[in-house]
Amino acid sequence: MPLNRRSFLGTAVSGAALAASGGLFSSFRSASVAGKKRSVDLKISCQEGVAPGNTLTEKLDFMESLDIVGLEIWGGGLEKRVNEIQQALQNRNMKVSAICAGFEGWLIADDPAIQKKCMDSLKVIIAAAGELGSTGVIFVPAFNNQKSLPDKQARELLIGQMKELGDYALQNKTRILLEPLNREECYFCRQVADGAAIVRDVKSDGAAVMGDFWHMTWEETNDRAAFLSAGNYLHHVHIASRKRRKMPGEDGEADNYINGFRGLKEINYQDYVSFECGSVGDSKITLPAAVKLMNEQWKMA
Ligand code: MG
Repeated sequence: MPLNRRSFLGTAVSGAALAASGGLFSSFRSASVAGKKRSVDLKISCQEGVAPGNTLTEKLDFMESLDIVGLEIWGGGLEKRVNEIQQALQNRNMKVSAICAGFEGWLIADDPAIQKKCMDSLKVIIAAAGELGSTGVIFVPAFNNQKSLPDKQARELLIGQMKELGDYALQNKTRILLEPLNREECYFCRQVADGAAIVRDVKSDGAAVMGDFWHMTWEETNDRAAFLSAGNYLHHVHIASRKRRKMPGEDGEADNYINGFRGLKEINYQDYVSFECGSVGDSKITLPAAVKLMNEQWKMA
């Protein structure tokens, strides 16, 4: 039987990827699922601030009507919201996907006091994220306007910090998720493969990388290759339109995610693709349209 390139890649990748990504924290249990064929479903998530509605309940009702199964929440003050969020999610087919940032300071600061503030505040968010069953806590090492160590020193420091945070996250049954940004926001880590290589060097099962289609638009030469390069280190994805960071579909033909989705299928990705975007139009109309577009493109991938 002829073996085309795509089916070869699918076969070659599936064993390792299955072991690591067969649902929340299966990677921490064992490799027993390896070899079992799993289908790859698109699990759509939405940031709290993106969904229309005046209250969390109204937002969740709207998301649920669209079969959105993940809720992404801002990390600032999360420890005070654990009960509220648990109650709001009761009796719904919806879970907390990821926790987005919300920490103080930045990890690769040239000032050790700022580094420490960041480590301490991240640990508070990680503990709350664990209680909520989150895939992980998203962080960026620094933004361009935050005074940081030179790259070589920064990378070495970050490896140690991520090891400590990753092991702490693992104890709390969650992860830390390194997010590569585009050059307008941060030069330090711009590509998914670079983020994945950092995670590889960290050597903690509680450390992972994520991809954001918005940043990837400007930094990656190939979405699929970017996701393949991350493989089982990848545990979250952000999505937005590709010209203005609005709702997918609002930038017309530019909003093509098929190649990236193909890569996600090939690594047997089991986590969420989460809206992190604005909207030009009324999100009561543009969000359902974006969900439809994503489902259509996922089928085509
Ligand atoms: Mg993002």
